[in-house]
Amino acid sequence: MIIARNLHKKYGNLEVLKGVSLHIKKGEVVSIVGPSGAGKTTLLQLIGTLDKPCNDNYELYINQTNLKNLSDKELSRFRNRQIGFIFQFHQLLPEFTALENVAIPAYIAGMSKTEADQKALKLLQLLGLTERIQHKPGKLSGGEQQRVAVARALINEPAVIMADEPSGNLDSENAKQLHKLFFELRDRFNQTFVIVTHNEELADMSDRKLYMKDGLIYDTEKAYEL
Ligand code: ADP
Repeated sequence: MIIARNLHKKYGNLEVLKGVSLHIKKGEVVSIVGPSGAGKTTLLQLIGTLDKPCNDNYELYINQTNLKNLSDKELSRFRNRQIGFIFQFHQLLPEFTALENVAIPAYIAGMSKTEADQKALKLLQLLGLTERIQHKPGKLSGGEQQRVAVARALINEPAVIMADEPSGNLDSENAKQLHKLFFELRDRFNQTFVIVTHNEELADMSDRKLYMKDGLIYDTEKAYEL
């Protein structure tokens, strides 16, 4: 599903990623853990095509598409259809309703308004938000806002959902519910997730933990502690 080899990234003289490689299978829930500043968000942005490595001799494939060969326009299109994002601060558009927030990526992908709205409605119902579809984000609780963000991430049936500290801004009960939802979506849709998290409970639930430290990935906690 995702194959990345030899990703390097520098900000000025600071080498944030020092040749990271990873392989994530369809339907896997993989968490990326490690101390602040390890390069976790930078890595997620590179595999999420929001940013590019600084070296030429890297490889990056999602769903058999070689992302290195795509123009910026093609990459935007790929991102819209194949990658769903969930951020710590949900990043919903405040002036739009929950339904519109969920439907917007489908409008962008070219789906008709009627079809997109129906699909958004179904997803919001699935996530227990039937009573909230006409609310704007400001009128929703933190947990509800994050579930709307999950529905938005799902609407184009992406190959992978990438989440950066998705429960970082939630209380423990809402965090638990959100984590449970990720695994329900994996079981129901075989949805692949890559999640950067400091939440140990979520990391422990995931199929695989990748430990990051100083710009490198380790498969085991032991190596990461070295
Ligand atoms: P993590 O997610 O593990 O906390 P990040 O990937 O956010 O780590 O950051 C890794 C390092 O890169 C940090 O030292 C951070 O300050 C630096 N960094 C991240 N983004 C930028 C940027 N846009 N410009 C300069 N430095 C950055």
